[in-house]
Amino acid sequence: MAESRYIWLDGQLVEYEKATVHFLNTALHYGLGVFEGIRCYSTQRGPAIFRLKEHMTRLVNSAKILGFRSLPFTAEQLGEACKDVVRANGFQACYIRPLIFHESDKRDLNLDSGVARVGIAAWSWGAYLGDEAEEKGVRMNVSSYTRHHPNVMMTKAKVTGNYANSVLAKTESVRLGFDEAVMLDPQGYVAECTGENLFIVRHGVIYTPGTWAVLEGITRDSLITLARDLGYQVVETQISRDHLYIADEIFVCGTAAEVVPVTEIDFRVIGNGKAGPITRALAKVFRAVVQGEHPRSAEWLSYVNE
Ligand code: PMP
Repeated sequence: MAESRYIWLDGQLVEYEKATVHFLNTALHYGLGVFEGIRCYSTQRGPAIFRLKEHMTRLVNSAKILGFRSLPFTAEQLGEACKDVVRANGFQACYIRPLIFHESDKRDLNLDSGVARVGIAAWSWGAYLGDEAEEKGVRMNVSSYTRHHPNVMMTKAKVTGNYANSVLAKTESVRLGFDEAVMLDPQGYVAECTGENLFIVRHGVIYTPGTWAVLEGITRDSLITLARDLGYQVVETQISRDHLYIADEIFVCGTAAEVVPVTEIDFRVIGNGKAGPITRALAKVFRAVVQGEHPRSAEWLSYVNE
């Protein structure tokens, strides 16, 4: 993993080694942070950040959901800061990690006792679910852990503390020998994976859980748009565990993972055990978009050097 030389912290680019926070920081102790994961891609016009505006809006919305009443920077300023981080580090392609985190010397559980600080880091990150994932697919289990109830943890917000649930499920899956976990919501329907949204294909129609209790994934939104552009029907609906087993195709998507076919769930082979044709078509068009080679690229890419 190639690290960056500079991290943006509270409005300034600081050297990697100097971008530290105190041991008693409240975000560290109580999970009081909100973050984003964004990819910057190499294109003919230089590095380009995918859907920067949407990621900044979700970041600021996450902060609002967690309860921060004011932030030291606007979404626009943070978007510019993301570009600064890519430029300062000379990356062509990278993963960008903005984090708004709480700091308070009172150390109580009241958000209003402290302030919001902001950092943005970037690093070079390969395929999150493995180099062969997009081609060969991944194996998953349905987790023994339930995904958040929307009135327990706020599922529309990328709150750091929410990710303890993802870590429990992911670690369990990997220890069991799978690549990733499918998580069910408290009603028992399919919600999402630990860091990806999920789609199934059956009889040529694409289905995905609605965003009532899952993260509003930006890759998910992009794939729904691209699938409809290609003429596919996409339906947001409740999906049960056994729907997964009899799907013709399953794929998951996220900023880190991108578009990845699922070839097995709970030891049931999905479809013919290979990436299906609709999954392949969507992965291909997604790749074209992020590389700046698709009509949607103009709308969705922010060129860092222009
Ligand atoms: N669900 C969860 C729980 C996630 O952490 C992520 C990654 N941000 C996603 C879905 C996918 O969202 P996106 O496509 O915006 O990265």
